[in-house]
Amino acid sequence: MTREVGTLSVQTENILPIIKKWLYSDKDIFVREMISNATDAINKLKRLVSINEASVKEDEKFVIRVVLDKDNKTIQFIDNGIGMTFDEVRKYINQIAFSGATDFVQKYKDKIDKDSQIIGHFGLGFYSAFMVSDKVQIDTLSYQEGAQAVRWISDGSEKYEMDLSDRKERGTTITLYISKDDEEYLDEFKMREILTKYCYFMPYEIYLENAKDQKEEKDKKDTDSGKEEAAKPINDTNPLWLKNPKDCTDEEYKEFYKKVFHDFNDPLFWIHLNMDYPFRLKGILYFPKLKHEFDTIEGQVKLYNNQVFVADNIKEVIPEFLLLLKGTIDCPDLPLNVSRSFLQNDSQVRTLSNHITRKVADKLISLFEHERENYNKYWDDINPFVKFGCMREEKFYDRVKDYIIFKTINDEYVTLKEYLQRNESKHKNKVFYVTDTKQQAQYIKLFKDNNLEAVILNTIIDTHFIQFLEMHEKSVSFSRVDADISDILKDTASEQDKIDKETQDALEKLFREAVKDEKLKVQVENLRTTSVPAMILLPEYSRRMYDLSRFFGGQDMSNLFPTEESLVLNHKNSIIQLILKMKDKEENKEDITLLCQHVYDLALMSHKQLEPEAMTRFIERSNILLERIAKSAVQ
Ligand code: ADP
Repeated sequence: MTREVGTLSVQTENILPIIKKWLYSDKDIFVREMISNATDAINKLKRLVSINEASVKEDEKFVIRVVLDKDNKTIQFIDNGIGMTFDEVRKYINQIAFSGATDFVQKYKDKIDKDSQIIGHFGLGFYSAFMVSDKVQIDTLSYQEGAQAVRWISDGSEKYEMDLSDRKERGTTITLYISKDDEEYLDEFKMREILTKYCYFMPYEIYLENAKDQKEEKDKKDTDSGKEEAAKPINDTNPLWLKNPKDCTDEEYKEFYKKVFHDFNDPLFWIHLNMDYPFRLKGILYFPKLKHEFDTIEGQVKLYNNQVFVADNIKEVIPEFLLLLKGTIDCPDLPLNVSRSFLQNDSQVRTLSNHITRKVADKLISLFEHERENYNKYWDDINPFVKFGCMREEKFYDRVKDYIIFKTINDEYVTLKEYLQRNESKHKNKVFYVTDTKQQAQYIKLFKDNNLEAVILNTIIDTHFIQFLEMHEKSVSFSRVDADISDILKDTASEQDKIDKETQDALEKLFREAVKDEKLKVQVENLRTTSVPAMILLPEYSRRMYDLSRFFGGQDMSNLFPTEESLVLNHKNSIIQLILKMKDKEENKEDITLLCQHVYDLALMSHKQLEPEAMTRFIERSNILLERIAKSAVQ
């Protein structure tokens, strides 16, 4: 072999500046690309060894070393893989790697401005080294007998130099002469972070070293041989997802979860995906425990391609609602070096995504059927996920719809079917629900006293989920406990208690005057309970409009809608009866006003929070009433 200086047939002139600019935000991926190439080189050698085409020392360990040299401003990626001959460098580096980069530029030139950060996820292979280097040098020795070591140097332009190298051992060293602007990559902390992100589960041990330490170590070894401390690889070469699910313990799953997702809490449960046909897919999906009720769920699904990290949360591959979970998915067969729009239209990707969805549904069904107690226990944490999934993926809804459960005001968990069946005689096809167990406590008590059942729907997603269910289960309607309960709570049996128009009008007048609202809707009813004097009812429809406008607009638009609240007075309640008796005496006027105002406020408070001014008035009035009781006791 003789020294060779050549010109590459790069199609696009000066692709380097373009690549540097595009990939600016995601330059870190050059590390992944170098380590992937080293891994491939070791894989290739091992394959040859396995068919007796090559041989290695019996105790030889395959490792990849990353050596930082701050003084010389270089980073080296060193492997003991297959190596390259002179001809192979020409072919694979000069032709394939460079033309690969050219193709890449050609293909994405026009798309870059729109999706620049997307391209960064996908590799450019060997050429990516030039993103951070002024010059790249390869020193390589092929496994082939009698091969000569080769050196190749280029500055990323179309010029390169090739010569003999002094490399003695089989394998390849890629030396990156780091450009001035990219010296941060010489920092050990930074490099460790990138290796941990992209290479944490790669199959061969990766060691991060400092050239300086190495020199000191060598000097030390020369004088003090044998006392070498075992260095620790930065990666876990056997990620749990590759193991057979039968061989994994709960402890291992939990430990893996905590390590990868930095969560102190145990996950609730998990799904180990493990298939080889029709495509290879391995991974673990965890259902995280929510920290508290109103947590917005924020998952993280890491996508790997043969143990190489590609990116977090790629929704083209993993159904969007599953991104609320935490997990690692490894799909060796996916064409991950292509653009996202390609992934979106790829039928294999769709099958894969359907498969994952089905597995998740199956897991939920199996928990429901075999571990109903646990399933109930998990429900508070997993319900937002399941509901979101149903609304996002029709197929998921179809599978799990009979396994969606509702917590009742009696702390039981029932499916929609169960609820409707057992309440059929009282209210057919109607589901009563509570959105806030504290505020709506009075209604809950009413329900309980009358042996009625309501479910609790208190998460942010429920407003939408109710609408969704009503659309899909056409005959079923949902009604909040303070919407139109009068029908089921009305005591229709006792004919003699019929309320005449005179009573209705009198009470209406008294309350309207007391609360100074001429338009207040007042309805007098015989309720099944005697203890409650009054309730506020707001039709389900009006409240939903109001809630939705608040959800979307973030502001109170209630004055845009006519108020449809009505005050229901319980004719069977003794306070109401007493008010009726007091009404004809002029001297009771002041007391009646106080009583009506108070009854109204109490009803309002079970329905929504009082405005600050109303609250102040309520407290003042309470004090006056207390004083009266005290005074009357003294007299
Ligand atoms: P790809 O890896 O996708 O084929 P690259 O541009 O990364 O494309 O690399 C081009 C080729 O250079 C590889 O296919 C491989 O043959 C060769 N190569 C790169 N790095 C190494 C290495 N560390 N050891 C041996 N061969 C290598």
